[in-house]
Amino acid sequence: MIGQIHHLNCGTLNPFSSRLLFPSKGYRDTRFLVTHCLLIETPKGLVLIDSGVGRKDIERTDIAIGKVRAFFTQPALMKVECAINQVERLGYSRDDVRHVILTHMDFLQTGGLSDFPNATIHVIRKEYDAANAPQTFTEKWRYTSHHWQHSTKWKFHFFGGQRWNELECSPIFPESDDMLLIDLPGHSRGHAGVAIKQKKGWLLHCGDATLNLSTITQHQNLPLINFLGATIDCCRADRLHTTKKLQQLISRPNNDVELICSLDPDGFHTSQAIQSLDESVAPQSQLSFPLQEESEVQVAAL
Ligand SMILES: [Zn+2]
Repeated sequence: MIGQIHHLNCGTLNPFSSRLLFPSKGYRDTRFLVTHCLLIETPKGLVLIDSGVGRKDIERTDIAIGKVRAFFTQPALMKVECAINQVERLGYSRDDVRHVILTHMDFLQTGGLSDFPNATIHVIRKEYDAANAPQTFTEKWRYTSHHWQHSTKWKFHFFGGQRWNELECSPIFPESDDMLLIDLPGHSRGHAGVAIKQKKGWLLHCGDATLNLSTITQHQNLPLINFLGATIDCCRADRLHTTKKLQQLISRPNNDVELICSLDPDGFHTSQAIQSLDESVAPQSQLSFPLQEESEVQVAAL
């Protein structure tokens, strides 16, 4: 059973394009983007979804992120935002984080991996292959292997026909359907969302399937998002299909899926507000339930 879900911003960004990506408050307003990660309490220990900016990114930005990527994304690089620092502020240790699930392996999702050296990293196999053998200019730009060169515990996932709300899925843990990888292709070769079963309904982290949630929730057509999509998407047709699927998903009568994505600051602040309300009625929990053994997790040591 899923316990408390913490919404963490693990990397504020201020790229030149942010005002155009989120024009709703006027083009003159500075719009900081976020790197929306989740820290989830489970019987298997803490599960982190995407790892954001890590300590090494801040110590050696030129190597860990690269000067060109840093120039285009303008990360704030604040230590307080590193997932490991937020985990410790919540009263946990790095070893309490047993699993990291990656929606994809862009550098904003993988920067914190080296801060959790003992965690098992879950990812779609196609994405791992793309990140380790990039073929196109875009793939060579988006991935930085410095982030995972010391990671040895990987669990690869595949989509094999199992479905969740008409989308292909792959359970993170074979004995449980509470946490699923969801096939959301288009942004990168093996891009996936992560669906988490809550007490009421589901939370779906859709990674970078959209950069601005209003393109899904309000069917907004934002020209710069279309332009960026055309430059960074692995497959434009797949992304458009994914957008349509997500629009259909949350338009169903009695929709029980709450959608979040990586970069959208409005979506992040809304989630944080809901989290604060939840915490005001339920005291913040620590890992009070007995942890299950990890023997059933298949780990590939590379
Ligand atoms: Zn991405």
